This record gives sequence, C-alpha cells and structure tokens, in this order.
Amino acid sequence: MGGILLDKYQILKKYFGYDSFRNGQETIIDTLLEGKDAFGIMPTGAGKSLCYQVPALLMKGITLVISPLISLMKDQVGTLNQAGIHAAYLNATLTPGQYRKALQLASEGRYKIIYVAPERLLMEDFLRFALQVNISMVTVDEAHCVSQWGQDFRPSYLKIADFIHTLPYRPVLSAFTATATKEVKDDIAVSLELQNPEIVTTGFDRKNLFYQVNTNKDKFGEVMAYLTEHPAESGIIYCLTRKTVEELCEKLIRHGILATRYHAGLSDQERAKNQEEFLYDVSPVMVATNAFGMGIDKSNVRFVIHYNMPQDIESYYQEAGRAGRDGEEANCILLYSPHDVVINQFLIDQPVENEMFTKEETLLIKERNKERLKQMTFYCTTNQCLRDFILRYFGEYTSNYCGKCSNCLTEFVDLDITESAQAIISCVKSCGQRFGMTVITDTLHGSNSAKLKQNGMTGNSCFGSLKEVPVYRIRQIIQFLSNHGYILVTGDQYPVVKLTDRSREVFDKKPLLMKVAKEQEKKDENKKKSHTDSMDYDYALFDELRKLRLEIAKEERVPPYIVFSDKSLKDMSARKPKTRKEFLEVNGVGENKCNKYGTKFLEVIAKKSL
Ligand code: ADP
Ligand code: MG
Repeated sequence: MGGILLDKYQILKKYFGYDSFRNGQETIIDTLLEGKDAFGIMPTGAGKSLCYQVPALLMKGITLVISPLISLMKDQVGTLNQAGIHAAYLNATLTPGQYRKALQLASEGRYKIIYVAPERLLMEDFLRFALQVNISMVTVDEAHCVSQWGQDFRPSYLKIADFIHTLPYRPVLSAFTATATKEVKDDIAVSLELQNPEIVTTGFDRKNLFYQVNTNKDKFGEVMAYLTEHPAESGIIYCLTRKTVEELCEKLIRHGILATRYHAGLSDQERAKNQEEFLYDVSPVMVATNAFGMGIDKSNVRFVIHYNMPQDIESYYQEAGRAGRDGEEANCILLYSPHDVVINQFLIDQPVENEMFTKEETLLIKERNKERLKQMTFYCTTNQCLRDFILRYFGEYTSNYCGKCSNCLTEFVDLDITESAQAIISCVKSCGQRFGMTVITDTLHGSNSAKLKQNGMTGNSCFGSLKEVPVYRIRQIIQFLSNHGYILVTGDQYPVVKLTDRSREVFDKKPLLMKVAKEQEKKDENKKKSHTDSMDYDYALFDELRKLRLEIAKEERVPPYIVFSDKSLKDMSARKPKTRKEFLEVNGVGENKCNKYGTKFLEVIAKKSL
C-alpha cells in the first residue's frame, strides 16, 4: 500500500469505489481496529465482506478468512484482485505445486488477505506457515456452519478454535453470518470462543426485494410469462426435487430460454460447468435444487423464483435473498401449490442416518422441521403483508404494510365460506378422520377417481356436495380452516385431516369469512408493480456497456459482475461521465478499476452520447 497511510474512508473509496459505509459496517470495522472481537449478523447482500476486508488492509499482519466453499473463495479473491488488493486462496482446487507456491508467497508477505478452507487449518504445512507469520485477524465467514442446528453444519468448522489455540498469540476474531435464530447465534459465540464480542445485528429487511406468492396452477405458464417479460435478466429457479429440475430445465430450453441446471445428482464436472455458465451470463437462468447457491455471490441476480414451496422460512429467506445483492430492484416469487406441502412432509419423514444425533434428537429435529413447514405454509396462504410475515418470523416487528409485496398490492374481498366449511367438516367426520386433503377435496367436488371408488368415498353422503366449488377453492378453504385451527392436518405416515375442539364453531359462528384476492386485478396489478427500476438511466447505453463488460470478462476469464456490477453500469449510463475524475464518481469504481477500464468505458460512453 505504499508509504502513505490511508484511513478507512480512503480505503473504501480507493479500492472499492464507494463513498460511504452501510449500516453496521463502520461499527464492526472500528471494533476490529481497536483489537476487539466482532460478530456481525447481517442479511445477505448487506456487505459483510467489507467489514473484514477494510480492517484487514489497515492491520499490520495477515488476515485469514475461513470460508466454507471453494466457489465463494474464488469469487472473493477475484473481486479483491480486481480492486487491486493482493489476496489468495488455499483450498483443494490447487495442485500440490500451486499450493506450495501460494504458501511460499504468503510467507513472504505478498498477501494481505488469505482465504482458507477450514480443513486446511490443522494440516502440517499450513500450521508451519501460520506459526511463522504475523496473523492479525482470523475471520470466520458463513459462521453458522459451526452450528449443528443449522442445515449447513460443517464439522471442520469445529477445528477453528483448536487452530487459534495453537497460535502463539491470539489474533482478533471476527465472525459473520446471515442466519439469525438464537440457537445458531449462541452456538457460534461459544464454539468459536469469541471473547466479549461486539455483536452487530442490522435489520433483516431487504428493501429492494419484492415478495410475491402466486397460486396459479399453471406454474410453467407463469415462469414463461415472467421470463418473456424480463428478457436477458439473470435469475434462479428453485425446485424441490432433481426430477423437477431436469424436466423444467429441458422444457425451458425447448422454449428458447438460455437455461442451465444444477443438483447434487450431476457429476462434479457438469455442476462446475453449469455454474460457470450461469456466473458468466452464458446461461442467465439457473434451474436448481437447494444444493445450489451457498457461496454464490453473483450480484446481478434479478429474480429468484421458487417453483415449489421450500421447507421452511429460513431456507426461503436465504434462497430468495440471493436476488438483488447489488441493491437493485429484484423479484422473489414463490409459486405455491398445496401439493408442495405433501412433498415436503414426505422429505421430512425420510429416515435420516446421522451418527451425530441420538434417536431422541432426531425426533426432536423432525418435530421442529414440521413446525417450520407449517410456518412456511402459512406464509404461502396468508393475506397479510409478506415482508412483515418474514421479519416477524425472525423476531423483528414492523408495520404490517410494506407496499412492496403481492399481498400489500392486492385488493381482497371477503368471501362467505360458511357452507363450504360446514361441508368440509361433515365430510371429515363422516369418513372417520382417515383421509388426507386430496381425498376430502375430491369427494366434496364429486371427482370420478379410482382412488375414491377404492376408498368407498363415492358412496359417501358428502360426495359431490360442493360440486359447484372449484377444486382449488376447496383446497384453499381447507388450508384456511387449518390455519385457523378449525381442523388439523397431521399424521405420522402421511397427512390426515382431523377435527379439533374448534370444528363445531363452524356450525355456530356465522358467517365465516375468508379473504380472497379479486382474481383479475391481482394478475394485472402484479404485472405492473413488480420490479420497476428505481434508477433513471439510458437503456441503450447500458446495453452497450454490458457488451463491453462481457468482452472484458471473457478476456480476463472472470465473471462479468466482477468487472463491474449492474449497478455500476446503470450509474454510468445515468451519469455519462466524460472524464477520469467523473468516472471515479460512479458507484463501485475505485482507482484500480478506473485505471484498468476507464478508457474503454469512457470511449463507449462518449460514442453513444454523441
Ligand atoms: P454479504 O453480506 O452477503 O456477504 P457482500 O459482502 O457480498 O454481502 O456485499 C454485497 C454487495 O454490496 C457487494 O456487491 C458489495 O460490493 C456491496 N457493498 C458492500 N458495502 C458497500 C458500501 N458501503 N457501499 C456500496 N456497496 C457496498
Ligand atoms: Mg458474504
């Protein structure tokens, strides 16, 4: 960094090209620079990396960053190198020769920031290196991986504390995560042995995300409509099963969409290739199971569509949160069908062989998972503000109107469901509380299915009593009754509809009202309101700049968003800088990038602005 000492603001501007810190960043940076531990709990996209990267550049020695995923390290190191910061990673993707070389350069003090996989920490050659250099700080990214309660538990994270004990002195420790539940938080602080850490929690609200739940039965139609309306945008479509991923991806490709796929059943090779194609915008649409995404820092993901409802709000928030990391408007759309609940129930009920847990613990985990699934289902069926629902789930209380989710933008009307509800309860009773939602629905609607004949339900007194009511509406009412405790959907093997103490109330209390969307308006409304750009910029110029970015990215073999984010390009297309100095004022343009790319971008801007 030369002889001149920069302060944190100068570092922010010079290397990262930003003018001000975001909420929480400064507190963490100051704490770490004072030599105290810090623990940042901030949502995806909040800017956790900067919280340790800035102090790392101001500290005397080296900062080690422990990170769970190889793709994540590569991305981060790529970004740092682009910004003109010397950084490297040490993980299993390096050949033994490359690894030795990297360690050698690291010993010579070439790197200020070194990313390392947790498994490496206690290996002999790494320890030898660590004992001989000056380590100022150890940062644990994605720190929830240390918690056995989380889904991302990594046993190797438990070695971090041991590693720190082997060092001759204790470096400053910082930990970061986007997972906020209390158990996980406590686990992190204890397992990493944080010493009296400054805990910084910023709000979980991601203001640039638009939340939508869609119950249209034609899921594929919805996806195609969305993709047609938002061409050239990058996004992820999550499915519950590998099979759905394959089918949907194939169908999209047949319809001319540049899509690729990712799930745990593919070869390592194909996964790496598909991921790369997505990162480089060769295939801007990724169809994937939840195996995809941790460690994907692609900043220009404009939408995340859930083709199926995920298992819990935690997963949903994390997956949907991969949209809009650059702070620009992005859409999170969940395509809900009641059948998703059944699949999730099934997945939860799968026997898990895990030596880590006793039988009781396994049962406890299953119970918790079921409770979480229930909350997730409530999210999909509520008429209340979706954003508020999520935030409450994480213990944050806001107003119950955000104005930026499909519920807030939908007009509801009260539907009198008294008769249907009574018919449903009668049917559950008359069949001896033995059947699930599908049988009940089909019986009431009078469907002509083999299963009903087999169950003897075609002869039931309720058969066809709701012939006039569409099947989806019957399901919706059953869900409503379950949400409000008038019935219980439960079961060990498969979900069965049962009566509760409150079932009788349906016959006494009149009328029973359920809020439903004014169908037609809902669709048009969402189309208009979802994802409108906040910035006013020159679209044609933006397109040109995107092309230039892609060229450069290909030349340098880095993903386009590492050259410049969408936000930077939009800002350029709005400001149309003419000089180097003006170029430096663009969001995300630091000195290094200005030197490297300034001329090229200024040229295109000048040409286009004639
Ligand atoms: P996460 O908290 O999910 O780890 P990242 O550290 O990856 O988030 O940051 C998300 C995005 O926000 C990155 O593109 C980063 O450059 C940007 N960012 C971080 N801090 C700032 C800031 N102070 N001003 C503007 N953009 C920022
Ligand atoms: Mg991060």
